[in-house]
Amino acid sequence: MRIDLHTHSKVSDGTDTPAQLVTAAAAAGLDVVALTDHDTTSGWAEAAAALPEGLTLVPGMELSCASPAEGFGPGAGGRQVAVHLLAYLFDPEHPELAAERLRLRGERTRRLRVMAERMAADGLPVDPDAVLSAAGPSAGRPHLARALMEAGVVSSVGEAFSDLLSSRGRYYVHKEDTPLLRGVHLVAAAGGVSVLAHCRAQSRGAMLTDDAIAELVPEGLGGVEVDHVDHDDRDRRHLRSLAAELGLFTTGSSDYHGRNKVVRLGTHTTGPQDYEQLLDAATGATVVRR
Ligand code: AMP
Ligand code: FE
Ligand code: FE
Ligand code: ZN
Repeated sequence: MRIDLHTHSKVSDGTDTPAQLVTAAAAAGLDVVALTDHDTTSGWAEAAAALPEGLTLVPGMELSCASPAEGFGPGAGGRQVAVHLLAYLFDPEHPELAAERLRLRGERTRRLRVMAERMAADGLPVDPDAVLSAAGPSAGRPHLARALMEAGVVSSVGEAFSDLLSSRGRYYVHKEDTPLLRGVHLVAAAGGVSVLAHCRAQSRGAMLTDDAIAELVPEGLGGVEVDHVDHDDRDRRHLRSLAAELGLFTTGSSDYHGRNKVVRLGTHTTGPQDYEQLLDAATGATVVRR
């Protein structure tokens, strides 16, 4: 079984339509693929409708969260870190979770517009309206990266991120993400299973401490993503032993973004036993099979 539990389509910051993505997943030899666009479920129906025979679709999402690095107890506070929370098989109609997704997408649109406007004001050939209308339901910095690439300002998405779009760069605008503890609670309340995405990826900035991860377990966290392109061998060994200690399952996945990243579908995969644990913990939605 080849199981890839983290992919993005055009409804967030990937470049394949959901239909193209499931077709590509089957062609890549996957048996199971999860669609986990940022802060939206709007690709689920198209992916399900286009599902090739033999492929199983796990409906999911990657929720944009923020958390104190050190945990959640009184006096934690302090340094906030960005945390991506993968959520699987939750009820897409759950009102609070649906409202939070909508709020996050509003934040995305607002902040991307301000970033584009700042660039335009500085003389960069960027049209904020065009960027936003090309972006679709869940606008992100990769949409601005492609606009910069098409205008010839940079030669790749990666180059745009290393300077113009960097969180330390002059055009960066903050967005107000979901408090992580609330994210974990919302996913659980909607019958879903949550998994910390690429949580040791040092290139993405500060990380949660192990104590903070441990505190999430009784709150409903189900697993951690271990095999990911942004984790080196040390990160993976560390996370695998932490997960064993905490009783979390582990996943491996590509974090495929189509042409917006170089990584291919199925680059990393999840073991069947971990996948079974995920399925056993979910009550909000079911996988789709054809
Ligand atoms: P945003 O959600 O708007 O803050 O943008 C973050 C997204 O940009 C992530 O989900 C990645 O898909 C993408 N990203 C972040 N860093 C890079 C990078 N160095 N190269 C390409 N894409 C990146
Ligand atoms: Fe992304
Ligand atoms: Fe992510
Ligand atoms: Zn992702």
